[in-house]
Amino acid sequence: MVKKYAYIPKENCVACGCCVKACPRQAVSVIKGMYAQVDMEFCVGCGLCAKACPASIIKQKEVSGIEEKMV
Ligand code: SF4
Ligand code: SF4
Repeated sequence: MVKKYAYIPKENCVACGCCVKACPRQAVSVIKGMYAQVDMEFCVGCGLCAKACPASIIKQKEVSGIEEKMV
């Protein structure tokens, strides 16, 4: 089974919180006011956070078994 989830490269994140507000699953949190992080357990890969990010840094990843790739 393939699971999609959002991936945030924290070095490019400005911690604006737009992705946190956009996520319908409360899967994103801003850590220590420094960068956003996705909880894979709650993320369903809907992509709403990526659309909301003003810096357009959020990517989607697919995971199937042990394979992981950027999409
Ligand atoms: S892809 Fe959807 S569920 Fe996952 S963190 Fe982004 S908005 Fe939330
Ligand atoms: S919307 Fe983009 S820049 Fe803002 S906190 Fe989320 S990932 Fe970081």
